[in-house]
Amino acid sequence: MLSNLKGKRLYSILNSKCPKCHEGDFYLTKKTYDLKNFSKNHETCDKCGYRFEKEPGYFYGAMYVSYGLAIAFSVAIGVAILVLFPGASYKVYIAAILLGIIGLMPLTFRLSRVIWMNLFQHFDPNALQKKQNSAEK
Ligand SMILES: [Zn+2]
Repeated sequence: MLSNLKGKRLYSILNSKCPKCHEGDFYLTKKTYDLKNFSKNHETCDKCGYRFEKEPGYFYGAMYVSYGLAIAFSVAIGVAILVLFPGASYKVYIAAILLGIIGLMPLTFRLSRVIWMNLFQHFDPNALQKKQNSAEK
């Protein structure tokens, strides 16, 4: 998906790829709504060896990103109701936004962790070569 974005953070975020090499997968499953496994991730990148969890509790920071995403989704749902059902009562807004946030939770969870990692790790076009060179030594 979106292979012309390779090397950009958006590519890593939208494809759940390693933020360093953009090749290795971060999550064990590609299925966002596999409710048993959607949150499980690899410890290290299987392509470049990048360690995803830099320190214990590293992904707690992703909660801030998750909060921001939930607000963005809530606003989007609210605007959609405003446009599609102009006369809707506030109860419709509350119900739709709550259901929307709960329904989008796996997506929010997965996106927030990858966005969090991408805040601190830039794409390194030579990451795979460096791993290869260190393996040959
Ligand atoms: Zn990698």
